[in-house]
Amino acid sequence: MSEPVPVGVDLQDSKSRLSVAWSDGSSSSVGYRALRLACRCALCIDELTGKPLLDPATIPAGIGVADCEEVGLYGIQIGWTDGHRTGIYTWVRLKELSNA
Ligand SMILES: [Zn+2]
Repeated sequence: MSEPVPVGVDLQDSKSRLSVAWSDGSSSSVGYRALRLACRCALCIDELTGKPLLDPATIPAGIGVADCEEVGLYGIQIGWTDGHRTGIYTWVRLKELSNA
């Protein structure tokens, strides 16, 4: 059986959580701040050493999603209200982070 595919993304601003509905009927949900902290782009993680470059103290508790768009069939790119927008979250990663 193939992996479930995403059928919908819901930005729950009132709860500060992003949820993904999957084709098998399950869903994943990740808090905005946890998702922002989990960014693996070259500005947040050193590409050569894997060392985190992002200081969690710089991310406000009330961080929000300014915009969110799908990147091919592969995942989503999120523009955060702190101005950061280079991070891409694959569907697999969103599933791994579920309930964070
Ligand atoms: Zn990043």
